[in-house]
Amino acid sequence: MAEVLIFVDHVDGAVRKPTLELLTLARRIGDPVAVALGNGAADTQAALAEHGAVKVLTHEAAEYADYLVVPKVDALQAAYEAVSPAAVLVPSSAEGKEIAARLALRIKSGVITDAVDLEVADGTLVATQSVFAASYTTKSTVMTGTPVITVKPNSAAVESAPAAGAVEALTVSFSEQATGTKVTSRTPRESTGRPDLTEAAIVVSGGRGVNGADNFAIIEALADSLGAAVGASRAAVDAGWYPHSNQVGQTGKSVSPQLYIASGISGAIQHRAGMQTSKTIVAINKDAEAPIFDLVDYGIVGDLFDVVPALTDEVKAR
Ligand code: FAD
Repeated sequence: MAEVLIFVDHVDGAVRKPTLELLTLARRIGDPVAVALGNGAADTQAALAEHGAVKVLTHEAAEYADYLVVPKVDALQAAYEAVSPAAVLVPSSAEGKEIAARLALRIKSGVITDAVDLEVADGTLVATQSVFAASYTTKSTVMTGTPVITVKPNSAAVESAPAAGAVEALTVSFSEQATGTKVTSRTPRESTGRPDLTEAAIVVSGGRGVNGADNFAIIEALADSLGAAVGASRAAVDAGWYPHSNQVGQTGKSVSPQLYIASGISGAIQHRAGMQTSKTIVAINKDAEAPIFDLVDYGIVGDLFDVVPALTDEVKAR
């Protein structure tokens, strides 16, 4: 069976959920071979094997943390040359997309970004994307070389599928460009205890209707009752009510959770662009004509200051 290379996103050996989702998709194509780099790379083995990796190629070096992106591209290229895979899958983060694009250029193949599904049709790997602010779904294939595809978080369910996951050390020699851009400092974000916005299964977002930074407390309370991440529209972010890191939309983050709850958000096309692929969409808006209602699975016409706390109480009571 063909092998499929997976770039592993992990933090000190803890594998992040989008990588486990890639393993589910990779098994539709062939045998997943994972590439784990940097501090704690070998510690990823158990989680990767549990979810179907037949092999885990690891390489630890300070360069992965000290320099931007290129050392990882060097390593992924080394793995590509060692394995000759049928496809290379990378989680669709800002870093993942840069790694994928650089790798595709080096190996003279095509890249597809932000896929939301993968299938093999008549022996060809087909990626589904959601484009033009999610107004269209397209299916694409890479015509030249080995497809390099980034896949959006929450595009597949994580499935347990135990495999051997034998660890092998990868041999990497860094290119001249690898040390071109040095990381000089890192500022860890203060933890809110909530899941990462792009990975969360549930996102509760607030918009201009929330009407003030302090009022975001009711959005956070609903999010916490559901174990959700908090998102915000650009109007709320521009007003200084919530950080830009939580903005959902064309110029913010793209999310695709199981459940997206939009409160006091009108549903502008630029906001939709970041959340329209959510599996179930709920909107709370006092204007029954708000465009967000064209897109929802469940709509609540009402004042969010009544509806959101009532929802929170109801969830907590269960
Ligand atoms: P509004 O459009 O003002 O809507 C507020 C809604 O709240 C209204 O529907 C109102 O009925 C409702 N409301 C008010 N009070 C209550 C209440 N008490 N209870 C219930 N409902 C209430 N926007 C993004 O979100 N993300 C982006 O990434 C983004 N990128 C952009 C990029 C570009 C290039 C441009 C031009 C715009 C971008 N925008 C983006 C802005 C976008 O066009 C909208 O202006 C923005 O999404 C509006 O935010 P909103 O829905 O919170 O505010």
